[in-house]
Amino acid sequence: MRPNMPGPAQTAAPSTPRRVLIVGAGLAGSLLAVYLARAGWKVEIVERRADPRARRFAAGRSINLAISARGIKALRRAGLEDAVMKDAIRMGGRMVHPVEGAAGYQPYSADPTRAINSVSRSALNLALLDAAAAEPNVTVSFDERCAGVDFARDAASAEVAFVNDATGATRTVRADLVVGADGAYSAVRGALQRTERFDYAQEFLGHGYKELHIPPVASGPHAPFAMEPNALHIWPRGESMMIALPNPDGSFTCTLFWRHDGAGSSFASVKTGADALAHFSAVYPDAVPLMPTLADDFAKNPVGVMVTVRCSPWTRGRVTLIGDAAHAIVPFYGQGANASFEDCEALADALADAIASNRSIDDALRAYEAARIANANAIADMALRNFIEMRDLTGRTSFKWRKKIEHALHRVMPATFVPLYDLVSFSTVPYSEAKARGAANDRAVRTVVGVAVSLAVAAVAAAILVATGAVP
Ligand SMILES: Cc1cc2nc3c(=O)[nH]c(=O)nc-3n(C[C@H](O)[C@H](O)[C@H](O)COP(=O)(O)OP(=O)(O)OC[C@H]3O[C@@H](n4cnc5c(N)ncnc54)[C@H](O)[C@@H]3O)c2cc1C
Repeated sequence: MRPNMPGPAQTAAPSTPRRVLIVGAGLAGSLLAVYLARAGWKVEIVERRADPRARRFAAGRSINLAISARGIKALRRAGLEDAVMKDAIRMGGRMVHPVEGAAGYQPYSADPTRAINSVSRSALNLALLDAAAAEPNVTVSFDERCAGVDFARDAASAEVAFVNDATGATRTVRADLVVGADGAYSAVRGALQRTERFDYAQEFLGHGYKELHIPPVASGPHAPFAMEPNALHIWPRGESMMIALPNPDGSFTCTLFWRHDGAGSSFASVKTGADALAHFSAVYPDAVPLMPTLADDFAKNPVGVMVTVRCSPWTRGRVTLIGDAAHAIVPFYGQGANASFEDCEALADALADAIASNRSIDDALRAYEAARIANANAIADMALRNFIEMRDLTGRTSFKWRKKIEHALHRVMPATFVPLYDLVSFSTVPYSEAKARGAANDRAVRTVVGVAVSLAVAAVAAAILVATGAVP
């Protein structure tokens, strides 16, 4: 790789490394900084929040997220797989909790070695930030909010305005490339929205989310865990659900997904801690004894909103988007961070390819965007669909049979029939290809079920004919 090689569209050969400004030191921004710094770029990251490294040892409850094949691949490339995965907890399937009766385990894959991984969100962000800050050509500043973008200072750079909300201080940063990694409510995307012919769609979910807590226990079959640790726990209740992911300290982070409005399980109708205790006793009875701080947590913890954002183009001049800034998705496939990490790989690869083949940064941005937008839209669709699967279908017998058929077909035809969950979570097949293959799988399963039903009907009919003496 030759990071200083000029492309044809550039006016002057850069004798110093190219400069990239990354807005946002979240998961995607920090990982991209590592990749580009190692490729020879001079990287400046500017983050709105305070430096999380100052609070590194502060006690607090864990919030986790599921990392799977795509995320692990991207972490491996940065040399961070072992550091992150050593504290991860494998979740090989769903543990589905009905209102009455025992919880049942549903494996994610026919291959029992496959699992998604519960990791601490803050530990992951810190590991990425530490790795970025350890690169000699990276600078990171905090407490500065992106307040505006000038897309075309000249054809080969862009400029971003920052403000420190505490002091009122402002400054501008100019770079050869500006990457908006500033999350679902991105200010960089906001500036793009004010440019010509920018397509933008934002869809808020009618459901919000609230995080709750199951603490470690001193005794019991899974101690220090109050429940089976190697599973993602789901309480599917049709229109709503609760999930719980394990943490290394033996606790679980629960997330309640309820409607904002309406009756029943909704944040409008269940308002206080006392309301929550009564409601949980009826709807999630087996969880209540495991949640001693339920009433307090419910009253104290905020309700989050979930949004799907689709936009195009992601690039204008020397400004581009990655991660949630480019494609916020709902969390039901556990893929937002995984997809964001894939963006980082795709952008770093496109830039390296362009530089190595003497093409311009503009070319690289076009190639990156072309490679990613359809995939981002595909995982956005699949994530919305998976909400229905998690909150409703996982509790149904027909769903369990469907999964059994899918796993059986995969065992018989491992190369040609790969279930959608495996394609999304345990492979790096592009999301749009996974979505298309998932639709073909649906047709194949319907055919198998149709043939099985026809054979069963024929067998019953034959038995009736024999029993009634209609045929000897
Ligand atoms: C409830 C929930 C559960 C989830 N579970 C999973 C999961 O299991 N698996 C998974 O893969 N994904 C999951 N996700 C999605 C995942 O959290 C996101 O996709 C991921 O954090 C995106 O990374 P990012 O760097 O693009 O954005 P972020 O992590 O949001 O980082 C953006 C950064 O930009 C900073 N910033 C914002 N505005 C500005 C500004 N104006 N100027 C400067 N800096 C700014 C922010 O402070 C932040 O540090 C979940 C999301 C939610 C809400």
